[in-house]
Amino acid sequence: MQAMALEAQGEPLKLKQLPDPRPADGEVRVRVAACGVCRTDLHVVDGELPNTKLPIVPGHEIVGYIDATGARVDGLAVGMRVGIPWLGRTCGHCPYCREGRENLCDDPLFTGYTRDGGFATHVVADSRYVFRLPERGDDVATAPLLCAGLIGWRSLVIAGDGRKIGLYGFGAAAHIIAQVARWQGRDVFAFTRTGDAAAQAFARKLGACWARSSDEKPPEELDCAIIYAPVGALVPLALRAVRKGGRVVCAGIHMSDIPSFPYSLLWQERELVSVANLTRKDGDTFFTIVPKVGIVTETVRYPLSKANEALSDLRAGRLQGAAVLVP
Ligand SMILES: [Zn+2]
Ligand SMILES: [Zn+2]
Repeated sequence: MQAMALEAQGEPLKLKQLPDPRPADGEVRVRVAACGVCRTDLHVVDGELPNTKLPIVPGHEIVGYIDATGARVDGLAVGMRVGIPWLGRTCGHCPYCREGRENLCDDPLFTGYTRDGGFATHVVADSRYVFRLPERGDDVATAPLLCAGLIGWRSLVIAGDGRKIGLYGFGAAAHIIAQVARWQGRDVFAFTRTGDAAAQAFARKLGACWARSSDEKPPEELDCAIIYAPVGALVPLALRAVRKGGRVVCAGIHMSDIPSFPYSLLWQERELVSVANLTRKDGDTFFTIVPKVGIVTETVRYPLSKANEALSDLRAGRLQGAAVLVP
């Protein structure tokens, strides 16, 4: 197999020829058809997350086809089209797993972070954490749903039912979640980098009723807001934009430090929460609503060997929608 592997943090990925991985009992091997590039991959490569396995093959928005299985892979078989998400395995017996919050498991494995992921021609996954996908579909268009979509969905649920919702950072996740929020009948207010007219036009095209720079105040008070950009300075701005009792959700795995802010921004029962990882139940629910919403993802394709270019474009904010690697 071929893979783009990270050997040391801060270095570019290197194209490697590796032996084909063998699925152990309970595992499947998947021939990768497409793998999305997520901001979390940047955090892994840049060394912003602790305890990364090295060397590591990043990538956790994987769509592919099972081409080998170990024993006991319940309901899965060679040839099936599947998705492999960030949540790679959980322990099943810690207090969080037992209370249905496996996203917070004490002893988890994460795809492309603590176990090898999808920047490769092949990947092995624990069959219990793999999502079955419809037999036919556009693999490249589907890949961003595996994290931007899924974690975006979890953050939307946690934001609550408020009608007026703000999305800070209009990248891969927001462009999917804006469509879901519109389908739910909400009003979407999009916040972008200062002066990013292209992202603002993109947000309006996807149904946002207002799209401006993140330092601008929306014309109405918002009920809730989700911050997708890894920028701590957005936290006080989002708190300022929500009404009394409103909620601000931080959806990323890493954020720059949050500047201090006056208590009056949090006062009156405003809430500030974070979203971590996903549960398999999130995936089951999300993939049920995907066809109902008719989500259309905007993607930019890169060959697998150009993974470093895809990461650079994401880092520089040069992408509209989501980058997807195709082996
Ligand atoms: Zn656990
Ligand atoms: Zn991700």
